[in-house]
Amino acid sequence: MLKVEDLHVKVMDKEILRGITLSIGEGELHVVMGPNGSGKSTLALTIAGHPRYKVSSGRIIFAGRDITKMKPEERARNGIFLSFQHPVEVEGVKVLQFLQRVLKNLRGVDEVEAYEIIFNAVEELGFDSSILSRELNVGFSGGERKKLEMLQAYLVRPKLLILDEPDSGVDVDSLKVIAGVIAKLHSEGTAILLITHYGRILEYLNPQRVHVLKEGKLVASGGVELVKLIEEKGFAAVEENGTAVK
Ligand code: ADP
Ligand code: MG
Ligand code: MG
Repeated sequence: MLKVEDLHVKVMDKEILRGITLSIGEGELHVVMGPNGSGKSTLALTIAGHPRYKVSSGRIIFAGRDITKMKPEERARNGIFLSFQHPVEVEGVKVLQFLQRVLKNLRGVDEVEAYEIIFNAVEELGFDSSILSRELNVGFSGGERKKLEMLQAYLVRPKLLILDEPDSGVDVDSLKVIAGVIAKLHSEGTAILLITHYGRILEYLNPQRVHVLKEGKLVASGGVELVKLIEEKGFAAVEENGTAVK
């Protein structure tokens, strides 16, 4: 589904990613962990096509196509969905309207049909439908913002879902709900790249692989046992452990 090949990325002439190689199979859930500033968000934004992040060498292959130079909107239409670390507030736009627009743009669904899909999804996920009549992210708590993003992802049904720290600034109850949506999408075949700083959300999930990013390089790649190691001994232990990849 996604192949990242020896990816080098610069931001304002500074090399942030220094040769990342990573491959996510169809329907797989991969986790990327790493200390602050290691390049996790850079990796997410580069895969989504953010123009600030310049690929200086390497390639990104998605569903068999080289998307390294593709515009972000085109990547989205092809099935890549990125959930941002800091979503925007938009006054005067209701959540329902926004979601209707998203469904129209990405799936070509008309307003009436979208209305039905949205209400069904809210019910399936056990969300409070009052969220739909609120203004987009205005006055939302961290948990509410993240839940809305998960609802959006659930509606879009991307082929690849990239989540940048969906667990940051979120209380335990919201964390469970968010993890529940991720698990549901995973079980229904969405490939997922989940970036997280803490292992807690992984108590609710079943990742195929865990990667550790440090100073722009993947220093380790393995199973969930890596998460335990990080929680117990910190990121420093991972490199010493010697599970480094190519
Ligand atoms: P992480 O998400 O792992 O905390 P980031 O990808 O946000 O790491 O950042 C990695 C490095 O790239 C940091 O040193 C950061 O300062 C730098 N960086 C990221 N985005 C920008 C930007 N837009 N402008 C300047 N430097 C940036
Ligand atoms: Mg290299
Ligand atoms: Mg980040």
